[in-house]
Order: sequence, then structure tokens, then C-alpha cells
Amino acid sequence: MGPPRKWVITIDGPAGAGKSTVSKLLAQKLGYIYLDTGAMYRAVALLAKNSDHSDPLDEKILEEICLGLDLEFVQKEGILRLLANGRDITKEIRKPEISSLASAVSAKSVVRERLSMIQRSMGKAGGVVLEGRDMGTVVFPDAEVKFYLDARPEVRSKRRFLELEAQGQDTTAEEVHQLMLERDRNDRSRQLAPLKPADDAILVDSSDLQIEGVVQLMLDHIEAMRKGHR
Ligand code: C5P
Repeated sequence: MGPPRKWVITIDGPAGAGKSTVSKLLAQKLGYIYLDTGAMYRAVALLAKNSDHSDPLDEKILEEICLGLDLEFVQKEGILRLLANGRDITKEIRKPEISSLASAVSAKSVVRERLSMIQRSMGKAGGVVLEGRDMGTVVFPDAEVKFYLDARPEVRSKRRFLELEAQGQDTTAEEVHQLMLERDRNDRSRQLAPLKPADDAILVDSSDLQIEGVVQLMLDHIEAMRKGHR
């Protein structure tokens, strides 16, 4: 008998709940791979915006982009960078306009089908922490551990504003708050793979917790589930 199978761990939730930081740290502690699926939707949004087409939500354009999509996550000087067709787009995809466009693009079936397929193939061997909106509900409904990470809206938008400010993005706290609420509304109300906790997800509220506290709480859950699995 070989070593026990490494698990698929999903972390879904709205913007600013702390998913990225927590997922990266959790993956590091477990020796797992970390996959930021939001970055993939952002990449499609950026490529659509940069295409010559006047409407970045045109289905034909999105289909072409998805079919030719070559995404690669690479670790450079301790930072995880995203390359799209060989070009480093790490910084560009974090712009607020791309956040909103990613949310619109992600409601399109042609985009969801393609990206879900890529995500499944990247995660199927296990040993992976996937963060997104539909990881536990649609892409990996049989994941061994599912978390739904949330926080109060005012806490989430403040975190997001500080993050964008630190990156030198030109924006205001009010703008970030409004755009975040709008994006949440879109992500929760779309027909395909709407943002919601999976029935068997463990709900975690990070509003009053530090990152380390959230990660420890998750590790405790994982440990308890491992014991239950033996
Ligand atoms: O997580 P992040 O804020 O980078 O995601 C950007 C957008 O991509 C989200 O607002 C959502 O519309 C979309 N997304 C999605 N499904 C995922 C990950 C992200 O629809 N699994």
C-alpha cells in the first residue's frame, strides 16, 4: 500500500474574506499546491479587454480566448506570478476594472466550462488547495475538505482597499466598497455556479480573526477529519 492519497481542499467565499492569504499559507503548511482560480477568470477578463473587439463580453471572442488560453503559475523571487501566453500579467489583473470585468466574464458558460475543466485537471491528483467561488460546489463536489470563508462586508472592503493601496492602485475606500458589493451581488445571483457555501462546507468567519488564527482553525478541522477517515 502506498502513502495515503493527498486531499483536495477547497476554499470558497466572497472578495476580501482573506481566501488568498489563508489558502497560500495553508498549502504551505500542508506541503500542497495552491491554485488561485480567481486569477484565471481575471486573466480571461484582461485578454478580452485587450482584444481588438469593442465588446469584451462577446461570446465568440471569449470562446477564442478560452480555446487559446495558455496560463502558467510560476514562483519568482518568492512571489507567485501568472503568465498568460508567456506574458507576466500578475499586476494588471489586480486592477479594480479587471475585478468587475472578471465577474461579468465569469457568468458566461463558455468561460466557466473551459476554466472548470482546466481546474479539474490541475487538482485531480490531490495535494492541492483551491480557492475560488465554486470550488466546493461545482468543480470539486467530492473534495475531502471544503471551507467557506466569509467576513462582514465592511471588514472585507477595508482589507481590499488596504491591499490595493499597498499595490499603488489609484482608488478610494468608498469606490472599493461599492465595487465589492456589486461584485458580490453578481457572483451570488448568477445562474451558473453562483457563490454559495457547499452543503458540506465548514463555515469560517474571519472578521475578528488574524490570518494565523484562521489557518490554525482550518488545520484543526483537517486533522480532526483525517482521524475520522482512518
Ligand atoms: O477571487 P477573485 O476576486 O480574484 O475573483 C475574481 C472574480 O472571478 C470573482 O468576482 C468571480 O466573479 C470570478 N470567479 C469565479 N469562480 C471562481 C473564482 C473566481 O466566478 N472559482
